[in-house]
Amino acid sequence: MAGRYSQIPSEGRVTTYDWAVFEFPSLPRGEPLSVSASLYTTYLRCPGQALAHAQGVYGPDSRASFSGMLAHRVFARHLSTGPIAEADFAQACREEIGLAMNPKLGSLHLRPSELRGVIDEVGALYERFQAAPLEGCRSVETELAVEVSPDVTLRGRIDAVFDDPTGVRLVDWKTGALGGAQDQLSFYSMLWGLEHGELPAIVEAASVASGERYEELPTAASAVATGRRVAELVATLRGGFIDGAAVPRVGGPGCRYCPWRDECEEGVAALRVLSA
Ligand code: SF4
Repeated sequence: MAGRYSQIPSEGRVTTYDWAVFEFPSLPRGEPLSVSASLYTTYLRCPGQALAHAQGVYGPDSRASFSGMLAHRVFARHLSTGPIAEADFAQACREEIGLAMNPKLGSLHLRPSELRGVIDEVGALYERFQAAPLEGCRSVETELAVEVSPDVTLRGRIDAVFDDPTGVRLVDWKTGALGGAQDQLSFYSMLWGLEHGELPAIVEAASVASGERYEELPTAASAVATGRRVAELVATLRGGFIDGAAVPRVGGPGCRYCPWRDECEEGVAALRVLSA
């Protein structure tokens, strides 16, 4: 279905457009679903955990994810308002935590000394971040939201959008290893194509922790393949809303942060191996 999609209201805009860069599969009507890049990559690792998230059930927060989220807030602040002086850094971090991260801070029960440790870690990441080439940044934390059927919305937040000589470059910063960045980037490039009517020229993941970089030149074929996997996700999770046991569960390191890790056979087995 090359097509006509609705664009979800964003900053007061509601537009529709005709778009035919690649075909997104037709989706049957069903349970409403919001599919983020995170839900998509979780689904590819373990459909069972994705079902939990789609039902609003999440596992425990981790110190690493808190630190990563704070680092992203700091990077966005740098790109929006300019460099943060060393003397102001701890206060800037506390302001960012106060703006959006207090619930996570509460759930981690970090003592003041542990929080200072997190801020020091984020400071080290910020130093490396500033060494990266940042010219040409057009926008940060860019929200994308496209309704691909009346009850399915795809969503994503791009860390930074750059203007490159070859076109738009989407960048996702990592504060750890690159891991499964490829699937996340494929989702972002497909979503950008849906919202803007043309694919980005480059999508890139860059780790400020390790210095690793991965980049991809999106193609219509890769967007089609990603669209098919998203359609499969929608069908699987909707089936799971009726019969959760029918959704495959795949054990691995992600079980540590899964809300079902204590009751899931595959998860218990995986965690036993990981802790041996
Ligand atoms: S515990 Fe592991 S295998 Fe089970 S649903 Fe969660 S992530 Fe999947």
